[in-house]
Amino acid sequence: MRRLPAQGSSLEEVMESLRSLQVHDADYHNARTWAYIYNAGPEVDEVLQAAAGHVLLENALNPFVFPSLREMQRDIVAIVNDLLHGDEGTGGTTTSGGTESIFMGVKTARDRMRAEKGIEKGRVIVPRTAHPAFAKSAHYLDLEWVQMPLGDDLRTHAGALEGMITDDTVLIVGSAPNFPYGMIDPIPEMARIAMERGIPFHVDACLGGLMLPFLERLGYEIPPWDFRVPGVTSISADLHKYGYAIKGASVILHRPKTNLQYQVFQFDNWPGGLYGTQAFLGTKPAAPIGACWAVLHYLGEEGYLRLARETMEATERLIEGVRAMDSVHVWGQPDMCVFAIGSYDHDILAVGDILNERGWHFDRQEGPPALHLMVSPRHRLVVDEFLTDLRYALNHHAAASTKAATYGDDVSAEVSAKQES
Ligand SMILES: *Cc1c(COP(=O)(O)O)cnc(C)c1O
Repeated sequence: MRRLPAQGSSLEEVMESLRSLQVHDADYHNARTWAYIYNAGPEVDEVLQAAAGHVLLENALNPFVFPSLREMQRDIVAIVNDLLHGDEGTGGTTTSGGTESIFMGVKTARDRMRAEKGIEKGRVIVPRTAHPAFAKSAHYLDLEWVQMPLGDDLRTHAGALEGMITDDTVLIVGSAPNFPYGMIDPIPEMARIAMERGIPFHVDACLGGLMLPFLERLGYEIPPWDFRVPGVTSISADLHKYGYAIKGASVILHRPKTNLQYQVFQFDNWPGGLYGTQAFLGTKPAAPIGACWAVLHYLGEEGYLRLARETMEATERLIEGVRAMDSVHVWGQPDMCVFAIGSYDHDILAVGDILNERGWHFDRQEGPPALHLMVSPRHRLVVDEFLTDLRYALNHHAAASTKAATYGDDVSAEVSAKQES
């Protein structure tokens, strides 16, 4: 049994133990991680540490006690709203991450359709490539959840919506881009169909929200996906991915902003007085808000453009490098800096095992099997090394891999423990 130590330790001792626990953690300082970490370099790290440390002990639950946190959150929301071509009629809140933003998008649609159309058990339609956070939200919110089929080109096709939409449909979802292949769904076509039926349409820009606007400014051809597209009623955008904030920072935006009435919660039927929250959290950490606000102002448009350029340079060199090897390929046509490597000749997951042995960390996918890479600015330092190791791995891998495709935690131990008790 683990228990609270009877006696305390010094800061030095505690930090030494903490560091020793970290010995098997992925080495993100040297850009070895192709998932979970979006590192913009030591200078930005310092900004994040300073700002997070400065507000560390505050609580964003009550903005009247800490008005600076309210100001910073309003500033973060307004900046993202502007980047996504929203206006005074659009707006939203900060959340703790993509999952909470998506949950709030799904809940808002459910409650609005309940109020406006009297739909009791709603249906949510998502592309096959939509993030699991939608399945999770539908599960929590007791909604029926259906997936659009994926084309042979690994694209979502808007035509598939016909025949799937029912009178009970409360939300249709598209991604910009999706997680597995980094491809943007046909947002204008999907949103038009949703609008014609009076159904809310959510764009999941958790990945693209803070990257695509800058790619467009750099001259990349980006298919339409933001509030310029008619019919889009909500967008989720993560700051803790390509906004380079610390974990715990995302935004959910609604059109019209008045839909927020279906997101917020208020309660006063207890002795403690009126209790209200904008999203899921009660006590809300200030550190992600302070750090997020600080990095937006530290980098500015100029900084984000530079980082977007660096990230795309690394991405293009990687993709060219992969395409130059005849036995591996990139699945689909990525629109950004997220892509998946597959092979018809090799067991790509066994290739991944060798890359793991050489210190690289990435997620694995199945259907089709792939190694999943999310590129960030620091990866420009390791492109050649990675390609060299990939070439080596292609010549030295085993027949098959024993590792499963994963993203996130494996909770099967907890599940079986529950069943036994
Ligand atoms: C990361 C991600 C999410 C979920 O966000 P979390 O911050 O991990 O909760 C949702 N959608 C897409 C496309 C993502 O990449």
